[in-house]
This record gives sequence, structure tokens and C-alpha cells, in this order.
Amino acid sequence: MRATTDNGLLAPVPDADGAPFWDFAARGELRIQICSDCREPRFPPRPCCPKCHSFTSSWRLTSGTGHIWSYVRPHPPLLPGYAAHAPYNVVLVELADAPGIRLVGNLVASPDAEIDSAAPEDLRIGAAVRAVFPRVQGMALPRWTPERS
Ligand SMILES: [Zn+2]
Repeated sequence: MRATTDNGLLAPVPDADGAPFWDFAARGELRIQICSDCREPRFPPRPCCPKCHSFTSSWRLTSGTGHIWSYVRPHPPLLPGYAAHAPYNVVLVELADAPGIRLVGNLVASPDAEIDSAAPEDLRIGAAVRAVFPRVQGMALPRWTPERS
């Protein structure tokens, strides 16, 4: 698997523990790994529960909603594919139904929009967001759009 997409952005390289996350994303589902013994959610996926040390787990479907817990707007020097979009955003999203579980991604204006497409007023800590699953080089890559109420 290539490490970059056609436009020079880094592509995920799933490992054995994370492969189910990407398979569910391909179906438009945001699932997180939970411990089968103590029910503790964990992300990123890994073999052992950090709370009870169990090696059994399953994948819980989430609502795909959350809020921006933090964000950055990277500026050059950047990899060439990212420099073309600077300044873009990188958001850290805490899931609504799994407090403490935070995923890194990009806030975009619409599912297939570029990583520099979000309106500045939508990029704020606490803003409600929803996962979307655009196809990037044949792979569903979760990103976030503003949740309109
Ligand atoms: Zn556990």
C-alpha cells in the first residue's frame, strides 16, 4: 500500500489491530474498539485493554458525532501535498457517545471537499461535528463536517 495519495497527502496504513476500523469506515460506520470484559472504549486500536489488561475486544458502533476538542492550523514548512492546502486544519474530535475517545482528522465543508475547505467560523473548540467518509484513493478516510442543528 502506498503511503501517500495521488495529491501527495499521507494515506493511512492499517495494521492488524486497526484494520477493522478501516473496514467499518468503508461501510460508512464509525466504530471504536471496546474491551469485551470491562467495556472500556479505546482508541487507537490495540490488542490489550489499558484498564483491565484483557485481550478480548469488539467494535461498538458510534453515532459518528462529537465536538472539536482542539485544533491546529499548520503552516509551512510542510510536505508538498499539505503545503498546497496551507493553511488547512487538523482537528481533534471527542466522540459524543465515548467521552475521552478522541480522533484526529480534518474539518471539511462537505464530505468530498478538500482539507482547506472549512469556513473559519466553523473551526472552534466545542463545535459539534459529524463524521463523513470520503473515498481517498479507494479507501474511506473519516473526516468531519459541521453538525447543523
Ligand atoms: Zn478491559
